[in-house]
Amino acid sequence: MFMGSSHKVDIGGLLAGGRQRLSVDQDVALEPFEGVQFSEPAHVHLDVHATGEMLEIAGTVDVRIHGECDRCLGEVDRAMHIDVDERFPVDGEAQADPFGESNVLTGDRLDVNDLATQLVCSAVPLGLLCAPDCKGICPNCGENKNTGACKCGPERATEN
Ligand SMILES: [Zn+2]
Ligand SMILES: [Zn+2]
Repeated sequence: MFMGSSHKVDIGGLLAGGRQRLSVDQDVALEPFEGVQFSEPAHVHLDVHATGEMLEIAGTVDVRIHGECDRCLGEVDRAMHIDVDERFPVDGEAQADPFGESNVLTGDRLDVNDLATQLVCSAVPLGLLCAPDCKGICPNCGENKNTGACKCGPERATEN
């Protein structure tokens, strides 16, 4: 796991019942993953609310993703807006679960970086496309069909 994150929020007061709500407003630099890069930090706005044994987190994550189109290998640079609506159990047992992959909540520390990373990872589509109707690369001549440079015509089979 990537260490050294300084985006940990103390939610001890929330868990102790001393406060009802906590607002988190942070810019979080995300680590690149699976060919997706982030040219600027994610803007994270969260409203954290403790209700008994659950921690409710609502808000938004805004981030710019940068990657390669799955079809035409062209550049993809897109703003993503993610609505956050998450719940985490705050009791000790769930946190001690050795199979839990989540480091979002450790004791009374909420890791905003980890939360944002998980949310963005699950929101980025597997096959990233430059446009929903990307025409891809011509199997015949290798041109990017989006640019109109390909003159092969429709559906010509490769012949040798
Ligand atoms: Zn494309
Ligand atoms: Zn072609």
